[in-house]
Amino acid sequence: MCRHLGYLGRPTALHDLLLAPPHSLSTQAYAPRHQEHGLVNVDGFGAGWYVPGRTPPVRYRRAVPIWSDQSFASLAPTIESRCVVAAVRSATPGFPSDESGAAPFTHDRWLFSHNGALADFRLAHKVFRDSASWVTDALAPMDSALLFGLAVAHWEAGASLGAGLAQVVHDISAHGGGGRLNLLASDGERLAATTSGDSLFTCTDSGSVLLASEPCDTRSDWHHVPPSSLVEADDDGLRIMPL
Ligand code: GLN
Repeated sequence: MCRHLGYLGRPTALHDLLLAPPHSLSTQAYAPRHQEHGLVNVDGFGAGWYVPGRTPPVRYRRAVPIWSDQSFASLAPTIESRCVVAAVRSATPGFPSDESGAAPFTHDRWLFSHNGALADFRLAHKVFRDSASWVTDALAPMDSALLFGLAVAHWEAGASLGAGLAQVVHDISAHGGGGRLNLLASDGERLAATTSGDSLFTCTDSGSVLLASEPCDTRSDWHHVPPSSLVEADDDGLRIMPL
């Protein structure tokens, strides 16, 4: 199970979101506290962020542990964004650990991350390969890419960010063999996430919101999201509902 994080709020440096907190994604890569599957998250990492005046996000991925990338460490203090999705990866056995498997996946305005694994990738692939949108990032040879392709298909058909994620969970649960499906996405204006098989926490503070697999610091504003929930966050606030 990987660890992921979404942020929406006042412009904040990537360093302050992903590297500096006492239990940042960088720490969660080797010492996660709430991870229910897998021990470490060293099979790559990625960060996507939105910049003013540009619809598609910027996305940076590497196939190395986040703490070992000194280039990212030097960039991160200089990049500020009001909307970020990032993840550290523990590759599911059987799938390659190259850069193409590291979240966030992206297409058009969207960023997407998956914590978990499909219970039967072959079945899900067989059932859904023709309904998934085969954008470039959905072509990586692993389960999360198929889920991304399905999410893009729902979004392109008009589903809201959260409804698209919820529909992916329902699709896979009903017809694709099920699995652990903690999903996280953004379109630059909002965040959405599902809980299905692992941990997720929210933290709202001074108009900013964090959705993260684990609390990154010791603030008392972190709240555990119940299993089988859909979380949506935008400028109007945070909503948590049953999936
Ligand atoms: N199945 C995905 C992968 O292989 C996510 C793995 C995870 O959550 N650890 O990367």
